[in-house]
Amino acid sequence: MYDALVVGGGPAGLMAAEEMSRAGARVLVADQKPSVARKFLMAGKSGLNLTKDEPADTFCAHFPDWLHPMIADFGPAAVMDWARGLGQEVFTGSSGRVFPVAMKGSPLLRAWLARLAAQGVEFRTRWQWLGDGQFDTPDGPQRIDTPRVILAMGGASWSRLGSDGAWAERMPDLVAPFRPANMGFDVAWSAHMARHFGQPIKGALLCAGDQRLRAEFVLTANGVEGGGIYALSRPLREGAALVLDLLPDQSAEGIAARLMRKDSVGNRLRKLGLSAAAIALIQEMGRPLPEGMALAQLLKALPLILGGPRPMDEAISVAGGLRADVLTADLEMRNNPGIFACGEMLDWEAPTGGYLLTGCLATGRWAGRAALKGRE
Ligand SMILES: Cc1cc2nc3c(=O)[nH]c(=O)nc-3n(C[C@H](O)[C@H](O)[C@H](O)COP(=O)(O)OP(=O)(O)OC[C@H]3O[C@@H](n4cnc5c(N)ncnc54)[C@H](O)[C@@H]3O)c2cc1C
Repeated sequence: MYDALVVGGGPAGLMAAEEMSRAGARVLVADQKPSVARKFLMAGKSGLNLTKDEPADTFCAHFPDWLHPMIADFGPAAVMDWARGLGQEVFTGSSGRVFPVAMKGSPLLRAWLARLAAQGVEFRTRWQWLGDGQFDTPDGPQRIDTPRVILAMGGASWSRLGSDGAWAERMPDLVAPFRPANMGFDVAWSAHMARHFGQPIKGALLCAGDQRLRAEFVLTANGVEGGGIYALSRPLREGAALVLDLLPDQSAEGIAARLMRKDSVGNRLRKLGLSAAAIALIQEMGRPLPEGMALAQLLKALPLILGGPRPMDEAISVAGGLRADVLTADLEMRNNPGIFACGEMLDWEAPTGGYLLTGCLATGRWAGRAALKGRE
């Protein structure tokens, strides 16, 4: 009865459904939650960063090689056109990140679901895939047999939104273990730090392994999180130390000269332009504080001692999932022809900044197109 079954109604699955239904296929989308795309809507809560407006080769470099053809085929410009086609004008922020003017995801999702319905896509919610076309549903077990299946069940973070990674237990030989990606890290703060929780550290240069970037991060009750930490989460997860240059535009000599003035340490640090939260961080990590040149050098290379990553369920995304070697270049499972996979289910990781959604949309589109190849 259906030409294709899509399991998982996140951005990857919806894009696969869009491609197939546009080509005239009868498509059923099944999702285990009461509504689709819950993580997509959550992503829009603090501004739905759809993509990054940068040249295709720079953009592609954030993905593993095996995804490059898919990203090249549906990169930043295509994502922006696609959003506009759904009536969502987009704008590019100062850092190149692209958002819908509405900022949140709900207007785009509403328009998208209406277009899918108009193309004949049907939806079943509260349908949990159990493998091999079988579902647990409110009406009891159901079986759906279709000539092609697209698996788009997401990663293993934010399980309350449906992305619980439980599918991986059904194919343990095919998956790389999940690890958190784009996540915060624990820090064993002393009680002095409590009044700075929620405060950003701005303007610092963050260094981990061979990566260095200027970006903001936030002190939290558990540790640290935010853009700068997420961007370095891979080397940090793999054990690199985090070192901060809190005054990247000033030399150690210049800082040392300004530190010579007679005043309390706190006042001298403040006069260097450091925020109260940054000063607290220096006192927390650098205690007992040295004087003169040694203090200047500490401000240029302050070690921030991290505990482990925050739990995977809090992570923005995950590494791990279906491995490249178990899939063809068409994202079809080598051991199960007719079954394709896409989105965060696949074993790749990319930074925040619009790369994740673009990667999910591009692989969903690729899988949907590939699934219809050779259709009678
Ligand atoms: C707080 C937050 C903010 C984010 N912000 C951004 C951002 O601004 N920009 C960006 O690029 N990315 C962002 N992301 C990441 C982005 O949301 C994800 O990468 C993206 O949603 C993954 O898409 P997907 O379709 O692969 O999987 P998901 O969106 O996880 O969808 C998978 C779907 O499969 C369903 N499912 C799972 N198992 C089963 C089963 N057994 N049976 C049936 N259905 C099942 C789930 O219910 C779910 O609906 C953010 C993530 C979070 C958590």
